[in-house]
Amino acid sequence: MISTKTVGEYWKEKFKEKVYRISIDAGFTCPTRDGSKGSIGCLFCDERGARPHYVEPSNSITEQIESGINRLKRRGINRYIAYFQAYTNTYAPTKILREKYYEALKFPKVVGISISTRPDCINDENLDLIQEIAENYYTIIELGVQSVHQESLDRMGRMHTVEDSKKAIQLIRQRGNIEIVAHLILGLPGENEEDMIQTAKVLSRWGIDGVKLHHLYIVKGAPIAKEFKKGKIKVFEEPEEYAKIARKVIQNLPSDIIIHRFSGYAPKEEVIAPYWTSNRHIARELILGN
Ligand code: SF4
Repeated sequence: MISTKTVGEYWKEKFKEKVYRISIDAGFTCPTRDGSKGSIGCLFCDERGARPHYVEPSNSITEQIESGINRLKRRGINRYIAYFQAYTNTYAPTKILREKYYEALKFPKVVGISISTRPDCINDENLDLIQEIAENYYTIIELGVQSVHQESLDRMGRMHTVEDSKKAIQLIRQRGNIEIVAHLILGLPGENEEDMIQTAKVLSRWGIDGVKLHHLYIVKGAPIAKEFKKGKIKVFEEPEEYAKIARKVIQNLPSDIIIHRFSGYAPKEEVIAPYWTSNRHIARELILGN
């Protein structure tokens, strides 16, 4: 049995009621997209940069939150985390970041903020702002670490170093009141089980609060799709294969780690492989042994 907490359990304890994220596309880009480090994005990422389908990027942040609240209210959810999800959400001048973050936080029922970003886009200036927010709101930085193996990062066109990840985690840790959720991809080309477990062990040493686990999956429009079609990329064909490794990875993370996600997800019409990527629950059930 896996004894770690899921984010649903953790937030229920913390806020005494169910709290859900509302995804936002705040109009940012990424250094791997705008030409500063690259122009096609990370190889596994499609053109939406992790934006869910129901988010309408032409809407303002206010409109996106309103629409998220309306959707979740129908499911009985009354407290929300503003989730800056799409692209790199610290990749802009601090003045812009301030406007965008506070636009989302003006809603009384928004009790926190989750900011998804890259390790090479964390610096003292944006952390000053995020720390200021953390004094009044529950605050998470979601960091795209993906792996602690440089070869894997290079192969995926991440254009940042393992050292960037370590440094970003240290900088955030120093601020004290910001939770760190690391994003990991299991099954990156060239990595074996030991390599993935090694990533978990290293992250445990660096100190993280939560994790979002993803399996490597191939969606239409992602640069990696071309390589996959040439037979150069392998994926976890069956969810059981993935769950077996994911359990070992979790067992090598800190025992009090909060699991924010058990596997990647993409809608059926977008998925090239593996087929089970469009099933939101299967990996979670297998990992938890339900
Ligand atoms: S994975 Fe993240 S950093 Fe890379 S292109 Fe997609 S949104 Fe940008």
